Amino acid sequence: MKSRYSALALLKAAMFPGGGTPAWTECEPKTRYDIVIVGGGGHGLATAYYLASNHGLRNVAVIERGWIGGGNTGRNTTVVRSNYLYPESARLYDFSLKRYETLGRDLNFNIMLSQRGLMLLAHSRHDLETHARSANAMWMNGIDAELLSREEVASRVPLLDVSAGARFPVLGGLNQRRAGTARHDAVAWGYARAAHSLGIDIVQNCEVKGFLKGGNGGVCGVDTTRGRIAAERVGIAAAGQSTVLAALAGFQLPITSYALQAMVSEPVKPCLDTVVLSGATGTYVSQSDKGEMVMRGALDFYASYAQRGSIAVGQNVIGGVISLFPALGHLALLRQWAGIVDVVHDSSPIISGTPVENLYINCGWGTGGFKAIPVGGWTFAHLLATGASHELAEPFQLQRFTSGRLIDEAAASGIAH
Ligand SMILES: Cc1cc2nc3c(=O)[nH]c(=O)nc-3n(C[C@H](O)[C@H](O)[C@H](O)COP(=O)(O)OP(=O)(O)OC[C@H]3O[C@@H](n4cnc5c(N)ncnc54)[C@H](O)[C@@H]3O)c2cc1C
Repeated sequence: MKSRYSALALLKAAMFPGGGTPAWTECEPKTRYDIVIVGGGGHGLATAYYLASNHGLRNVAVIERGWIGGGNTGRNTTVVRSNYLYPESARLYDFSLKRYETLGRDLNFNIMLSQRGLMLLAHSRHDLETHARSANAMWMNGIDAELLSREEVASRVPLLDVSAGARFPVLGGLNQRRAGTARHDAVAWGYARAAHSLGIDIVQNCEVKGFLKGGNGGVCGVDTTRGRIAAERVGIAAAGQSTVLAALAGFQLPITSYALQAMVSEPVKPCLDTVVLSGATGTYVSQSDKGEMVMRGALDFYASYAQRGSIAVGQNVIGGVISLFPALGHLALLRQWAGIVDVVHDSSPIISGTPVENLYINCGWGTGGFKAIPVGGWTFAHLLATGASHELAEPFQLQRFTSGRLIDEAAASGIAH
């Protein structure tokens, strides 16, 4: 085990500097593992951690082509919430939010969870009706929800333009208080450190280029830029590249990949203490701990594997945010970036076996898989360890595309994060 982080350890390190140990050490890939996970994002790392902590499996490697957390996990706008419509999704995402609530302690790593709430604005009578339906669904599913009047929204978010002349009138809001943000890098690093301390190998700068197959056509390992690695089971958790890896293994996924971009302004003093989301403008905004305004909008318009966003979509995001918060129009834009997200037609994830024996996949989280890292890891570890679907993940298998039992969360993952 790694030494524990604590106030005392911090004091000791301050008094006697230079004695620290790395959070995890770089590993040379071995020639054989029980389980290989392709992709060192949040989902891959969480899967590795739960394989060791929940199932006692330690002969496991996470194979990452770049650096851990360098994919969507390190590019996302860090919103966590569980305000979904259908019971299957509500169960899945609320399990995840509950795990987030104790994750800092579980991993002994400060993930900077900030349950500052998420306010979905209603700009029309139709929005009010839709919000009432969502709130009812959330209450039925045992999830906290509040319907707010225009005045209550105005008092919670004083920076918002709720004046009669506002470009987008505000008629009310749907709030989830337990929603909020968590630090993305810390989630990846926390899982990596905890997994490594339980014996998991984390191999960076190692790209999986193909799959090794046995006599029966099942997968028995991976072919990588650092050599062949045998494995009894292989799990893919490589958002943005899921379709590419599936094609290498010889099957197709019902997924289209798009660029999704985000941006931050220059930092300013604290002025927004919740996450505000507006369906009509297709944008949302929160303020980071550093003071930057973190903004995001819709997907880019065309399918792509390029990790950059188009100017037109970026302009829409900025225009939308400024029409809601005119005061932010004075700020300079500091950075813009994009990730590639895997979008499934019913806007729900896939945690499933595949048509290829011994090969499993966790993908299709689209624009909203950061909030699902704990449950994605938990249920994918269960599947890889036991070969059977975890009850929470059971509705999210590939079979739903042949049975027709889709879980259409397009409304709840709308602009979707
Ligand atoms: C701009 C943006 C904003 C977002 N905002 C939110 C939000 O606010 N809330 C939310 O819940 N979600 C959000 N998301 C979605 C969220 O980021 C993703 O759903 C989630 O991070 C997916 O995690 P992952 O571990 O599956 O994938 P990733 O973090 O992308 O990790 C996959 C890893 O696989 C690696 N890989 C790929 N191919 C190979 C290969 N052949 N060999 C080895 N390694 C490989 C990649 O390098 C990558 O590191 C956002 C996404 C973006 C892009």
